[in-house]
Amino acid sequence: MKKILVLPGDGIGPEIVQEATKVIECLKREFELDFELEEAHVGGAAIDATGGPLPDETLKLAHEADSVLLGAVGGPKWESLDIAIRPEKGLLGLRSNLNLFANLRPALLYEQLASASTLKAEVVAGLDLMIVRELTGGIYFGQPRGIRELENGEKQGFNTLIYRESEIERIGRVAFEIAQKRDKRVCSVDKANVLECTELWREVMERVAKDYPDVTLSHMYVDNAAMQLVRAPKQFDVMVTTNMFGDILSDCAAMLTGSIGMLPSASLDANSKGMYEPIHGSAPDIAGQGIANPLATILSVAMMLRYSFNKPELARRIEQGVETVLNEGLRTPDIYTQGTRKVGTEEMGDAVVAAIMRTTWAELGGLHEGDLQGIECARGGGISNEID
Ligand code: NAD
Repeated sequence: MKKILVLPGDGIGPEIVQEATKVIECLKREFELDFELEEAHVGGAAIDATGGPLPDETLKLAHEADSVLLGAVGGPKWESLDIAIRPEKGLLGLRSNLNLFANLRPALLYEQLASASTLKAEVVAGLDLMIVRELTGGIYFGQPRGIRELENGEKQGFNTLIYRESEIERIGRVAFEIAQKRDKRVCSVDKANVLECTELWREVMERVAKDYPDVTLSHMYVDNAAMQLVRAPKQFDVMVTTNMFGDILSDCAAMLTGSIGMLPSASLDANSKGMYEPIHGSAPDIAGQGIANPLATILSVAMMLRYSFNKPELARRIEQGVETVLNEGLRTPDIYTQGTRKVGTEEMGDAVVAAIMRTTWAELGGLHEGDLQGIECARGGGISNEID
């Protein structure tokens, strides 16, 4: 039995997570998966319930779970709190306590949404790249760090960029293994011409590459990588880089797609246990209105099935379900364009479930009595025409 801890969080978190859990329930039922879902508080919701953003009980459940599905945390209600107990600390606490060192951020642009990008459609249509960012080391964690006062009274800020060979090697292996399942190309991004630490990064990547002869390794300086990402992003398959470079490049890559509500992410430990979440935040400006795009969270479930539960065929089913609803012209307001049909969070989630079930029935060669019950349950009630 596999345990999934569900952490809806704040703002639109509960709304989008509800649609993602419908997808899990649908797959559980259709494919008899032995998955158990448990729910707990994190972030602002946890502060309200227990006084802290990451209660012991949530952390215990996270340790026990095989994977975690998270909505989003944060919001204006908790912004005046001390930084040490803000909602975001719950997220960082989970990442560090679970030792989630590998952050996977795909940037994928469905052809149907190419006009949502700020770049020309031909530059980005069909974009499918994966950024693998080291998440628990580098300059964000290196010691010494701080702000000190010099003898002349002037202040000096300092941080330390530091990586051990073993830290570079393990993130390198994650990138190469992912590339093996894709187009078999890894581009390692560094600043080896200036920073000794990333000179070592390059050296270790070269060494790791020898164990993956089917994958081609290339290197790129980070400044050029930023430029190439907006010039010709489709040249990349997998990019692997340090914590800070990855932070910046992955946001840049995400925005190439122009639709923050579409992008999932995964953070993995050494045993492929992961925390899966959309890349966007809790969107307090639209929370409670039923208009948030649930697709990034639903696609995070696909990543969970692929990377933690080794079920790529089920992951593909979810991705195909998303493609189908986009082909049918369904759009939440954030990705709406003229000529498409505007739908809310729930309708979008239901449509993905219906698309997945339609494919399954087609394979089974027809509709069964039990399926009707299933779809009614997935839709939380009445069956509407568009899924007939
Ligand atoms: P945000 O990502 O929440 O929102 C940015 C904009 O994108 C908003 O206009 C929002 O309405 C829109 N948006 C985001 N997700 C959407 C979706 N699924 N569907 C439709 N529109 C969507 O970023 P922000 O406004 O800078 O931050 C809001 C809060 O979220 C803050 O408290 C911040 O700290 C927190 N945050 C949390 C995470 C996380 O939990 N991983 C990440 C980023 C920000």
